[in-house]
Amino acid sequence: MSKYQTKVVKFGGTSLASAEQIQKAVAIIRAEDARRYVVPSAPGKRFDGDKKVTDMLIALYEASEQGNPCEELLGEIEQRYTEIVGDLGLSLDLSPEFSAIRAQLAAGTTLDYLASRGEYLNGLILAGYLGYPFIDAAEVIFFDENGAFEAELTNRVLSRRLSRQRNAVIPGFYGSLPNGTIKTFSRGGSDITGAIVARAANADLYENWTDVSGFLMTDPRIVPNPKAIKIITYRELRELSYMGAAVLHEDSIFPVKVAGIPINIKNTNRPDDNGTLIVPSKDGFEPMASPAPGAITGVAGRKGLCLIHIEKDMMNQEIGFGAKVLQTIAEMGISFEHLPSGIDTMSVVISRADLEGKEEELIRRITAAVQPDFISLEGELALVAVVGRGMMGTPGSAARVFGALAKEKINIRMIDQGSSELNIIVGVNEKDFERAVGAIYAEFTAS
Ligand code: ASP
Repeated sequence: MSKYQTKVVKFGGTSLASAEQIQKAVAIIRAEDARRYVVPSAPGKRFDGDKKVTDMLIALYEASEQGNPCEELLGEIEQRYTEIVGDLGLSLDLSPEFSAIRAQLAAGTTLDYLASRGEYLNGLILAGYLGYPFIDAAEVIFFDENGAFEAELTNRVLSRRLSRQRNAVIPGFYGSLPNGTIKTFSRGGSDITGAIVARAANADLYENWTDVSGFLMTDPRIVPNPKAIKIITYRELRELSYMGAAVLHEDSIFPVKVAGIPINIKNTNRPDDNGTLIVPSKDGFEPMASPAPGAITGVAGRKGLCLIHIEKDMMNQEIGFGAKVLQTIAEMGISFEHLPSGIDTMSVVISRADLEGKEEELIRRITAAVQPDFISLEGELALVAVVGRGMMGTPGSAARVFGALAKEKINIRMIDQGSSELNIIVGVNEKDFERAVGAIYAEFTAS
């Protein structure tokens, strides 16, 4: 018997791309009584080169905006769903739904309405197949008139609604504006819906079913077959995803984080794999969540950065020096990424794309603001972040990172260790990026 009372299960697009995939999802749902609330994405790709239904719906909107014929594309979308319904042997007639979409198209509809139909229709199918009540997300997920998500109102209405239903299917990706029209989250937003439902249902686990068995310790395009991450904290995940590791939709962490609900990333095609468990903190997840001292959780990184390096004698005694530099950068509409500083030196890491065309002006303005002894702008910087709660309080982690890079003859241009000791960030030349990631990964995973 499962130790869980209530799980919210979100299935991604590839997990629901065809009748065959839907049957796998349904077998997973039925295997545990606790899997009470189901949040589906729209059907994704069935094979390489296939189209995601959401992309087809967006193309449909663009065609209608440009006054191009829409019927063929809409027919193709309808065909995808009819095939799924037929292959599942379900007696569900979706033609009234498609008539409604046609009517909306004729009346001049919105992108959000059309894009949301992918999840809406998949939700109807899944609810029909499972015999679960269907809750239209437009009735329980709210945005304000500016399009900002209304977390508390949603939580109130949705919890009340769920308290009356033991099971339900709630389509992902959208909700409604105060005037009742549909509003979607950004792409990949069904992850967010899953987290919102998990919070409202007071679930003890949010299972996010996808087509990989959890997160990998590093980018498999850089290191072949990296190890999977068994358990990771929200904080570590945030560090890794900031550094570019493609994981969950960023905003999907918040609703479950406030409620302290763990997320389990699972593979629909290999349901017995453990996947990755994302936990609020180590507490309550011992001993699994306590890594070996010095162990790391992951290595990720970003290219496309540059470094402004400023030197001035007695900088540390000059009140407001850093503030002036940062204010100058902010006034030019540039955000800074990192701020590794020494005694009489200050470095600011910024994205090259943000700086484009503004280089000379920025140097001129900083020079005027703080009169440095020396200022330079160095391009082609990459950051590598080594993230791991196992490094906290373990001497030697930084030495291992630097040693691994030294062995590879990679020059370190910048070092930054977060005060939480959760990460060590090093700046290297962009051309050394992949080798740096590989060397650090190898250092910490060699047994
Ligand atoms: N179907 C939407 C998308 O493709 C939302 C999602 O799948 O999470 O972005």
